[in-house]
Amino acid sequence: MDAPLLRRHLLLAGTASLGLGSTPGRAAPHPAASDDSAAADLDAVVAPPPALQLADGLRLATCLFPGAKAPSLGLVRDDGHIVDLAAGFKRLGLKARFATDSMLSLLEAGPEALAQVRQLDARAASGRLPTHALQQVRLLSPIPKPHSNIYCVGWNYLEHFNEGKDVRADKGVSELPAHPVFFTKSVHTMNHPLGSIPYEVGNTETADYEAELAVIIGKTGRNIPEEQAMDYVFGYTAYNDTTVREIQQKRHGGQWFKGKSLDRYGPMGPWIVSADGVDLSQVRVICRINGVEKQNASYETMYFKVPRIIAELSRGLTLVPGDIIATGTPPGVGYARKPPEFLRPDDVIETEVTGIGSFKNIVRLQS
Ligand code: MG
Repeated sequence: MDAPLLRRHLLLAGTASLGLGSTPGRAAPHPAASDDSAAADLDAVVAPPPALQLADGLRLATCLFPGAKAPSLGLVRDDGHIVDLAAGFKRLGLKARFATDSMLSLLEAGPEALAQVRQLDARAASGRLPTHALQQVRLLSPIPKPHSNIYCVGWNYLEHFNEGKDVRADKGVSELPAHPVFFTKSVHTMNHPLGSIPYEVGNTETADYEAELAVIIGKTGRNIPEEQAMDYVFGYTAYNDTTVREIQQKRHGGQWFKGKSLDRYGPMGPWIVSADGVDLSQVRVICRINGVEKQNASYETMYFKVPRIIAELSRGLTLVPGDIIATGTPPGVGYARKPPEFLRPDDVIETEVTGIGSFKNIVRLQS
């Protein structure tokens, strides 16, 4: 679908009256995570109001509030409004225990900081704090500048492992490993919930989608026992481990890092839901391309579950607050389809983790 047609389609679908395109200021916290203004206009058109789910926990977002030129933290409430944490604390006369423009600062400040945010949430519930409609803010990646590479798990759904057996380059691997497959993605892959995914002729003809549940670490730990692993989880968010298959599988010795690490090939969001608000047994990971469902699997079908992943990853390796772990993608990826379905310019990728949230990204041809 070409861009004008897509725009008309979405206008007809009633998703255009969001006002996001007029949001002043553009976040430029990270070269890889910033968009050009033209991209922002189209992104605003394709962005529906993020669907609010019924999680009980806190929804913490990084965003641009109306009139702001720099990102700051917000608390997203069930009624579709968002509290500016800095303004909220000021109204309450409280000194925040963390920098209110940094999710990493909040995570590093630990339980006392989270308790402060809960206090703010309670006051917001009584209607005593100023809020913004969610449509008036521009949501950014909850962690726009990760402090280290994004940890990822490969082949973590049995069906996904099997669907690629006949078509991937490493045909020698015929059984799921006894331990999780780990790799990382560069920090330059981080992208916003509504950011565009670059399509570059000569580089990305085999770009593919991978919707995933991502874990956000909230406590420092090393050699974490599996039975204690959930104590180290701050919360969860949705993630897309966008990948260029040709580069991942056929170049660079079959090592995945390069094909997984193109700029902005890792959108995340729309916010982090604290762990107490997520029942993993009810979570489904879904991906839609141009509105057509391509992936849909439950957490229960994940091969190595979150506690095992944390236990294995932390063996001799220190996990710290703000670390991101993408837990693997369900079956239904494009390269394993017959015929293969790779991402094309103007495709709209929708990534959803039920109970947490969803976001959309458009594939944009780079000139
Ligand atoms: Mg993946």
